[in-house]
Amino acid sequence: MGKVTGFLEIDRQELKYQPASDRVRHFKEFTLPLSRPEVERQAARCMDCGIPFCQTDTGCPVDNQIPDWNDLVYAGDWKRASENLHSTNNFPEFTGRICPAPCEEACVLNIENTPVAIKAIEQAIADRAWEEGWIKPQPPQAMTGKTVGIVGAGSAGMAAAQQLARVGHEVHVYERYQRAGGLLTYGIPDFKMEKGGVERRVAQMEAEGVVFHFGADVDAERLRALVEKHDAMLLTTGAERPRDPGLPGAELEGVHYAMPFLVQQNRRVARETFPDTPIVAAGKHVVVIGGGDTASDCIGTSIRQGALAVTQMDIRPMPPIRENKDLVWPYWPTKFRTSSSQAEGADREFAAATLEIVGKKGRATHVRCARVDAARKPLPGTEFDIRADLVLFAIGFAGPREETYVTAYEFERDRRTNIFANTEDYRTSVPKVYAAGDVRRGQSLVVWAIREGRQAARAIDLDLMGETTLPR
Ligand code: FAD
Repeated sequence: MGKVTGFLEIDRQELKYQPASDRVRHFKEFTLPLSRPEVERQAARCMDCGIPFCQTDTGCPVDNQIPDWNDLVYAGDWKRASENLHSTNNFPEFTGRICPAPCEEACVLNIENTPVAIKAIEQAIADRAWEEGWIKPQPPQAMTGKTVGIVGAGSAGMAAAQQLARVGHEVHVYERYQRAGGLLTYGIPDFKMEKGGVERRVAQMEAEGVVFHFGADVDAERLRALVEKHDAMLLTTGAERPRDPGLPGAELEGVHYAMPFLVQQNRRVARETFPDTPIVAAGKHVVVIGGGDTASDCIGTSIRQGALAVTQMDIRPMPPIRENKDLVWPYWPTKFRTSSSQAEGADREFAAATLEIVGKKGRATHVRCARVDAARKPLPGTEFDIRADLVLFAIGFAGPREETYVTAYEFERDRRTNIFANTEDYRTSVPKVYAAGDVRRGQSLVVWAIREGRQAARAIDLDLMGETTLPR
């Protein structure tokens, strides 16, 4: 344990943000890092609890050994802290930036006080490790002679590829887009995570022997050929099919799903060209329908593009400001949260259902809404209109895209249409083919995708070699 009385003496410090008026002028990251001495002080708050709930599945899907690296940071041994962190997480600079940090909710100090600033410490360790040149390629000592194909270069595919290459398999990653990262690169805005970090990891993985095939959209026929060619195939193609709002007026001009809007902006920042008609919020009244991360990303992007007004519609009632920790700890609580994007100036409507999109001459002009009861049914007589020339649906994802190999190959599915595989062996119903990440579990979090990629890599290594040194 770091400083025995640290949690009594030191207050929690979080990363500060550039003022909203400054950060909305650009698409770059806007957090201001803590100084190294301050990070060491924050690590000293860790109590090294008998049972570190932060580290269990409830707190950290990749089982980061949080008390151990807190102790190492407190002692000034950042290099060993980085080694420890990388032993459970391939990409801590990603999760240090965009993970919602269930570990902090599960922190024992959170019961009585404020949690250890685990996420800020994780980011600081990973960033310093890159700055100091401690992160190097780890090519295998010997090759196994086996080849593994992976479809999809998102968080799950990248984590699996790195693990498999390091134990000596020849790994080929087939990715539809021109760059790796999946939703990290094309969905999550640059102001939450700049993409240079993904490119840096791709370079590391290439030096470890991973071969990336970009611009490779794998259909059923190609998958059949790849299954023939490789000793094992892992599918990590995500869950991109948006939930259908089924609303009158959804066909009007100015009404879009969130993803094309976010993807276009990320491509603009990357100076990529795209053929689609531009969707832009500049000079518009924007209504974002949905209450999650994707909705927040639409808000921050709209504000940066120069929207006149942004309103967010959430069908759920406004949650309590504080959770009852006796009832919910160490689990992720429902409580009133304000994302950095919401804080930049969105109006938020709670307990509000969207009834229809209203338009004139084929273009959206308003969103018709109503308050809802506890069962989320619209209450008669509570209807109201919100001006909207751009409406963005961010109401979640229903499962994998259907018009790809997924349907043609006739995989067994779960009841939410995800490709079925268990979390022990990650095998699908098709021999030699495995599945992990969002395509298996449904739209989730980057940290879960990394966990599944690592675990699937272990399962594949075990099946190919009869034994494995990879961790679960
Ligand atoms: P993906 O990241 O979806 O990667 C799948 C990859 O497969 C893509 O690169 C895709 O191009 C490729 N692919 C698909 N089909 C084919 C094919 N047929 N052939 C070849 N390649 C193919 N999580 C967080 O932890 N924090 C956040 O802040 C956060 N914000 C989010 C914001 C948005 C807008 C969205 C949509 C999601 C967010 N998430 C967030 C969730 C997170 O991004 C996903 O859970 C995670 O990216 C899943 O990783 P994955 O590797 O399973 O799939």
